[in-house]
Amino acid sequence: IGFFLHIPFPSFELFRLLPERNEIIRGLLGADLVGFHSYDYARHFLSAALRLCGHDQQLGHIDVDGRAVRVDVFPMSIDFGRFSRAPDTPGVRSEASRLREEIGDRKLILSVDRLDYTKGLLQRLEAYDLFLRDNSRYRDRVVLSLLVVPSRTSVPQYEQLKHELDEAIGRIASAYGGITTSPVLCHFGTVAFDTLAALYGIADVALVTPIRDGMNLVAKEYVATRSDERGALVLSEMAGAAMELGEALQVNPMDCHGVANAILLALEMPAEEQAARMAAMRKRIARYDVSRWAGDFVEQLEQTATTAEDGIPRLDGESKADMLSCFRESARRLLFLDYDGTLVPFRERPDKACPDDLVRELLSRLAAREGTRVVVVSGRDRETLDRFLRSLPIGLVAEHGAWLAERPGSWRQFRPLRSDWKSEIRSLMEFYVDRTPGAMVEEKAYSLAWHYRMTQPDLGRVRSRSLLVDLYSRTAGMKLDVLEGSRVIEVRNAEINKGEAALAFLRNGRWGFVLALGDDLTDEDLFRAMPRRAWTIKVGRGETRARHRLKDPDAVRAVLEELCEEEENG
Ligand code: UDP
Repeated sequence: IGFFLHIPFPSFELFRLLPERNEIIRGLLGADLVGFHSYDYARHFLSAALRLCGHDQQLGHIDVDGRAVRVDVFPMSIDFGRFSRAPDTPGVRSEASRLREEIGDRKLILSVDRLDYTKGLLQRLEAYDLFLRDNSRYRDRVVLSLLVVPSRTSVPQYEQLKHELDEAIGRIASAYGGITTSPVLCHFGTVAFDTLAALYGIADVALVTPIRDGMNLVAKEYVATRSDERGALVLSEMAGAAMELGEALQVNPMDCHGVANAILLALEMPAEEQAARMAAMRKRIARYDVSRWAGDFVEQLEQTATTAEDGIPRLDGESKADMLSCFRESARRLLFLDYDGTLVPFRERPDKACPDDLVRELLSRLAAREGTRVVVVSGRDRETLDRFLRSLPIGLVAEHGAWLAERPGSWRQFRPLRSDWKSEIRSLMEFYVDRTPGAMVEEKAYSLAWHYRMTQPDLGRVRSRSLLVDLYSRTAGMKLDVLEGSRVIEVRNAEINKGEAALAFLRNGRWGFVLALGDDLTDEDLFRAMPRRAWTIKVGRGETRARHRLKDPDAVRAVLEELCEEEENG
């Protein structure tokens, strides 16, 4: 599913006022590709997805329950060729000379929009009023032609806007017009393509000043039509098109004096300057026209569909049956299980993620089987693992391999390690805790972890990036690893890792069945250390060297349950 939003996506400050804000985000995330006109809109959407639904992004990818959603920018464009060729067609040429004749030798300022409050029509007229007031010599030398296309005519507010527009036009006409002439004309309705293209082709100035506009195609159509490289575009900086049309006279549509001034500049712009600005804008729109836009979108959508299947198969159907039969047929089995994010889902606070009854039951049933050794391999400290997994007949690895235990409580150090680096790194991390509400430092014997799961997500991300930069430079040349986990940054002795620790258990026997299950980067060390015939399973998304994938801790529990049953039935 591809979804493209043709209107702006508001900033979080506005968006969060909507009662249905979560439903809207969840709905949009049902698509595989979500497209916006500009980087700002995409950024606003990503920020809302993070702050309302907790979905983090990586390079524009959001993981929604194991499904990749891509968010990207596709500035919509127009059929450049059609508009560019239009002035040379007989229909447009005759329309242009008819209109020219009607207008006489007055300069034409053109305004084309739907009747919508976002288009800033009243503010535009106010600016034009100001322009005529301050530049009396132009009063009988210009005409502002408003082409207003009816929109949402059954909505009372739009009806009201029409009244206000009529009043404003009347005021200007009576203040500056004569008995037979008016400096403002309005056509309320649509016109045929030839007439529209003729208007674009003869307008000295296009006045495009929406208060807010996703893109604004009228601005692009005006530029595309001017193959003669004449005319000047006054463009609101609030229109998405302003990103691409930097050579326009850009204005703040709410600043009437600024707009009035831009009208004067546009009317008096020398021909060479008009040509230079037009040529640059035309080149850009010609390159990225509407078929490029559509092609890009569809191509990205197809790619999204392929990256979602990143080549690592889910453990299900045949592969799961294979694993179960391998388990059944082996006399000696060794199971390495990561704890957080694998056996137990992440919680707001790490100390809340204690094992529930089901996990304890599964571990004890598995470990009670003959010839089956279960080892929980974790980054947690010894005390926590003892507390969480007390009295279970399983092996433990703490602090990513700094400590091993044959049973909970019977710890030994893997190898002698230094910890004199900790005070310096601790004070750096504490500095970041002070500046980031909700962040905390966790201290273990040979590592320090900076947790930011409970911070305001945007701030947490920003702080974690600058902490990482500081840590990389502070630890350069020291035998330390800086690791990024799920909303945690950890610094630990480089001589230890989960793989080394697992080898100590592997060497203890001849195992017919070996399984390793883990969800984050530190588990890659575990996968790397496994013998070739081992079953390695990554939990969740992300790159991995594991051979299979499971969706989440629930899926892990279901598989462990099947292993238990396999054994008990056998
Ligand atoms: N338009 C039209 N008939 C008219 C006047 C304008 O079809 O009589 C078209 C115009 O060519 C442009 C579109 O209406 O393609 C307006 O698009 P834009 O993005 O500027 O504004 P939106 O209406 O989408 O807010």
